[in-house]
Parts: sequence; C-alpha cells; structure tokens
Amino acid sequence: MSIGILGGGQLGYMLALAGYPLGLRFRFLDPSPEAPVGRIAPRVTGDFTDRAALEKFAHGLEVVTYEFENVPVDTVHFLAKKVSVFPPPRALETAQDRLREKELFEKLGIATTEFASVPVAYDLDSTVKKVGLPAVLKTRRMGYDGKGQWVLRTAEDVKIAKDGLPKQPFTVERFVPFTRELSVIAVRGKAGETAFYPLVENHHRNGILRLSLAPAPGVAPEIQKAAEDAARQVLEALNYVGVLAIEFFECDGKLLANEMAPRVHNSGHWTIEGAVTSQFENHLRAICGLPLGSTTAIGASAMINLIGEVPESVQVLAIPSAHLHLYGKEPRPGRKLGHVTLRAASFEQLTSRFLSLPGFFQRPDFCLDGTGRKSKSPGA
Ligand code: AMP
Repeated sequence: MSIGILGGGQLGYMLALAGYPLGLRFRFLDPSPEAPVGRIAPRVTGDFTDRAALEKFAHGLEVVTYEFENVPVDTVHFLAKKVSVFPPPRALETAQDRLREKELFEKLGIATTEFASVPVAYDLDSTVKKVGLPAVLKTRRMGYDGKGQWVLRTAEDVKIAKDGLPKQPFTVERFVPFTRELSVIAVRGKAGETAFYPLVENHHRNGILRLSLAPAPGVAPEIQKAAEDAARQVLEALNYVGVLAIEFFECDGKLLANEMAPRVHNSGHWTIEGAVTSQFENHLRAICGLPLGSTTAIGASAMINLIGEVPESVQVLAIPSAHLHLYGKEPRPGRKLGHVTLRAASFEQLTSRFLSLPGFFQRPDFCLDGTGRKSKSPGA
C-alpha cells in the first residue's frame, strides 16, 4: 500500500520507520529539500499550495495523511478529491483554530479552560475582564510550542499587549494554576473502533515539551476514564480515523482540555519502545483499515526531548534501557533534534535510573531533578 504524508519532519520520519515492517510504502511532500525524511523515503519538494507538486505527490497513492498540523486546509480538500485523506479535513480545520477547538470541547461538554475570543482590533481590556487576570493571550492560528502566546498578569501587561497586538484574531484564556500537564493519545479505526494509551505526564519549558513520563504516575482510574471519554467524544464527533492527541491541565483533581493535535504527537514518542504497539504503527493501521494494535504500556518510560543540541551517542547508548532517536536535523537553538526514551520495569526503577544519567541530562533546562519530576511553574 502506498501512503502519502504531508510534511517531512521527524513525525513523518517515525511514521515511515513504523510502516516499513508492515510492508507499507511512503512518499512525502515537504517544502524543504532538507526535510529529515529525505534520508529514508522518496519525496516531492514543493510548497503545500503548489498544485503541480500536489498532483505529482498524489499520483498512485492509496491514502494520504499529514504529520504537520498547519498544512493549508485547501491543500487537503484538493487532495481529498483524488485520494482518501485521514484524519478527515474537518479535524485539521478545527485544530488549526484555537477558538473552534475550544468551541468543539464546549459543545461536547468537555471541561476546558475559560476562554473568550478577541476578534481583530477588539478591545482587549473588556475581553480580559470576562476571563479575569492572570490570563493567557494566544493567537488563534499558527501557534505551537508556546509560540504566539503571552501571559498577562497585570493591567499593565494588558496595555503593553494591546499596543503591540498585530492585526489578527486571538483568544484569551484564564491562566490555570494546574498541578500538572497530562495528555492522552487516542486512535480510531475506519470501523469506529477506538483504543487509548495510558495518560502521559508532560513537562514543558518555554512552551516546548522537554520530558514525558508514561504511564503518568499516580493517575486515578476516573481521571484516565475522563480523558478517554473526552477523546472518544472528539473522535466520534469528527468521524475521525487515525491518532489524535489531547493535552489537558490537571487542576483540583479534574481535567481541563487545553488543545488537541490531529496527528501523532511528541508526548507519544515513548510508545515506540514503551507500549505493545507504537502510536506511529497504530496511526498507520487505522488509516489503512488494518486492526488496531494493543496500546498497553510495557513498564514505565521517560521520553526526553533533545532540543538545540544532542549528547554524544556513545554517552546515551551506554545507559541501560536508553533508546536514542536522532532526526538528522541541523542543530539550532530551540529545535527538536531527537529524543531519548529511558525504560524501566516500574516507575520506582525509572526514578533511580534518572539519578545515574550522565551530566548532559542533569542540566536544569531538561527539567530533571533526579526524580524525573520538576517543580511546577505553569507556563514556564
Ligand atoms: P499551548 O500552545 O496551548 O499548548 O501552550 C503551551 C504551554 O503553555 C502549555 O503546555 C502550558 O504549559 C502553558 N499554558 C498554555 N495555556 C495555559 C493556561 N491557560 N494556563 C496556564 N498555562 C498555560
């Protein structure tokens, strides 16, 4: 079966690596001639809006998916006339707009952060009053890894933001004093069957994911159920096929949905070694109409993102149960270059393994304090 993937970054790279053992073939479309998938799969280099490139890309494919959430929706509609596209274009449209995403959560009765819309040139003060301070101002579109968002703590912050606001729509959300951030990776097949991985605990720094612990320690069964119920509702409402991630804040023992990603997700990378079937394989199984694989975790895993720089491979490979993934990208500050998954039989063993990590992993910017957990500083 030939699968086309829009976007040639690390998510596409790991999708192809998971699909080759299943006998699947891949072709990518990416605007950059340096896209990481160039090493492992044929690729069309062209803009997502270039109709000739899209025709060339789509020729002979049986299914198209995307690994990049900001693919123009028109591109996906154009391709959907020629070949099946999963997840459905409506999921992409919803996830690209924070307001629509939040409205979907609200419509489905999924608890979310209190929010309000700030249309272009709207008076920010009155919107902020609706949700109260502190608040988080976010661009409705093209925000990722903490980009396009500002924490507003005082009236002065509101004034500064207002004066500097570019002419584009925003949302304002109530700042949530969460205890921790959790995410669920869910998958839905073509016949409507669903499966869910155990909740993952995520630690961010400057809006970028640094560390995921899976299964998240100390999750009450009703919290896991609430996450699965929320994900199932979204999957069904969108008639979704493929992997979907939803990020939550855990606050006062309850979950508040923050955002969703209609694709495989960074907080699911641990599933490559830490679950019976990886999120990448399950995404492919779903979009190809194959049976879904087990989402059961094998022991406990920690996934550490390598951001801006990578350690010596020899250092990582000397760590028992560490798995190194390098994406073949040029180092640049703030860039996700790879990840390391550390596995153990139990969370206690995982915790003690952290203590023996070499110096590279002990830096404060990896948020590791020797226990795999970090002190909370929401939004930091
Ligand atoms: P997002 O792009 O919405 O995932 O936000 C990036 C990170 O900013 C989140 O993972 C949180 O750490 C933080 N953040 C976003 N929204 C809020 C909020 N309403 N309250 C507190 N922290 C937030």
